[in-house]
Amino acid sequence: NRRIVLARRPDASLQHGDLRMERVPLPTIDDGELLLRTLWLSLDPYMRSRMNDAPSYAEPVAIDAVMVGATVSRVIASKHAAHAVGDLVLAASGWQDYAVSDGTGLTRLDTDMPRPSLALGAMGMPGFTAFVGMLDIGQPKVGETVLVSAATGAVGSIAGQIAKLRGARVVGIAGGDEKCRYAVEQLHFDACVDHQQHDFAERLAAACPSGVDVFFENVGGAVWEAALPLLNDHARIALSGLIANYNRAAPSDGPDQTAQWLRILLTRRVSLRGFIIFEHYKTRHEAFVEQMSGWLREQRIVVVEDVIEGLEHAPAGLMGLLRGDNLGKLVVRVAD
Ligand code: NDP
Repeated sequence: NRRIVLARRPDASLQHGDLRMERVPLPTIDDGELLLRTLWLSLDPYMRSRMNDAPSYAEPVAIDAVMVGATVSRVIASKHAAHAVGDLVLAASGWQDYAVSDGTGLTRLDTDMPRPSLALGAMGMPGFTAFVGMLDIGQPKVGETVLVSAATGAVGSIAGQIAKLRGARVVGIAGGDEKCRYAVEQLHFDACVDHQQHDFAERLAAACPSGVDVFFENVGGAVWEAALPLLNDHARIALSGLIANYNRAAPSDGPDQTAQWLRILLTRRVSLRGFIIFEHYKTRHEAFVEQMSGWLREQRIVVVEDVIEGLEHAPAGLMGLLRGDNLGKLVVRVAD
């Protein structure tokens, strides 16, 4: 049984020595427990924040503890009344081959699911984030301009497509030419602007001639700075993430722009709402599952996945995600 633990807290950028692979004996189960084999492990930006010992909405991962993470797992031994050997479940086994569970928090998945990894992406937490952020907070209307950052990622790719289904004009922001082409040609965004270009802010303004009515923000930093001046009166910001800051040790010591930003929000009567998706499961998850499974069945939403082969490559995978190497939802195939 291999597992990857947090060896030390990263300084700023995640480094190889921050995580450590260990081999431990296969765990045994007691009455009321089951043994799970990890098939798929999800890699997500929040994992970087959990490595810091800072107050947040979730507890930090302890040193020498297994890294947290959502998994699609198979029940391979069971002394639990509700789960039989062979069942497929959505679990939180973390970065390891096998895990013991008492059944708490497991969601049973359809064993015939053609792509079980979707439970970690479009049909899972990132898809749900896109759904709540875009429909409940952004509330795009026909003909409005919707701006989505990290546009080809797990959340952004779905958020932009949902806005298209609502009849909005959708502009993406992504890193590099290839991702931008993907957003327009495969995801059917109306335009996409590369944030790595030196004249990114001018290009973004040119791509949004009528301004921006909804801003689904995943990034922060230079992306935020370029987008904010484009907001229209009564624009809505769904503040989903600030990934540009996750690898930072301390706030940058540049001039503090907060006063200008707040002034834009005030004078243009912008609504900004930060949200943490875990709070929305009770009220909105059922509607999401129904709506998204319909969209996927009817092929009205394109799903993009980036698959890494092998648990041992998970650390490099998360480093790549924080640099922008991934196209679509990043998952690790741990076993078949
Ligand atoms: P993605 O699949 O979008 O992967 C991360 C992407 O972020 C990279 O591919 C890269 O895309 C972009 N990125 C990373 N660093 C920078 C940078 N410095 N500047 C600009 N872009 C950068 O991840 P997810 O879709 O899983 O997550 C996207 C965001 O949504 C994150 O901020 C995450 O924290 C947030 N989130 C929030 C939730 C909530 O409850 N509020 C729940 C889930 C996710 P590119 O190459 O295009 O720049």
